[in-house]
Amino acid sequence: MSPFRQVLDLLLPPRCISCEKIVPDPKTLCLDCWDRAAFITKPFCSCCGLPFEIDVPDGALCLDCARVRPPFKKARSVFPYDDFSKKLILSFKHGDRTDLAPALAGWMVRSGADLIKQCDVITPVPLHWRRLAKRQFNQAGLLAQEVAKLTNLTFDPAILKRIRHTPPQGHLSRMARQKNLKGAFRVTKPVQGHSILLIDDVMTTGATLLNCTNLLLKSGAKDVFIITLARATHA
Ligand SMILES: [Zn+2]
Ligand SMILES: [Zn+2]
Repeated sequence: MSPFRQVLDLLLPPRCISCEKIVPDPKTLCLDCWDRAAFITKPFCSCCGLPFEIDVPDGALCLDCARVRPPFKKARSVFPYDDFSKKLILSFKHGDRTDLAPALAGWMVRSGADLIKQCDVITPVPLHWRRLAKRQFNQAGLLAQEVAKLTNLTFDPAILKRIRHTPPQGHLSRMARQKNLKGAFRVTKPVQGHSILLIDDVMTTGATLLNCTNLLLKSGAKDVFIITLARATHA
């Protein structure tokens, strides 16, 4: 350990990125939080990444994907959207904890390794400028930038643009969300032939990500892949 790091550790000992308990190494979780964190592991839907409760062979699809294949090629997430991941994401998004981005991105790279191999460009789901002004940063943009640093993907934060401010969608039904998003995004750069990795913090109904995927494909992208930090695991 460098003398500088030793001094720094004395002054600012590394803390668990979730509960802030002092830990031996920076950018990690304490043992209690590791126990509580439910990382998504196999078996899961080979298309959308939905975890299965029963053991199924590799390549199996969930009921939704078997019925109608989503427009994106594959999606993966690090965590189910549960109390643990919700707290972590909220402190990252609203609690000034941008320092969490490298650790969170590291997990995204691990969960999405298969997908990353098939992509060449990485871009986030954009925020509307009004929300950006309020929050100072786009959490998805920060994650995408950190994932790009850990991979050889080209980071382009401006492929998609949010041109319409949409009201919060939390309480809306699936149909209402799709309607709410109509005309909200635009593709502002040529994407022909590119395999694009789209990054967001959470996939709930997937309406936003589906909307962006369809726009990218309509603009000529070869494929769209998705990695999020967390995803809803119940409809
Ligand atoms: Zn902890
Ligand atoms: Zn699926």
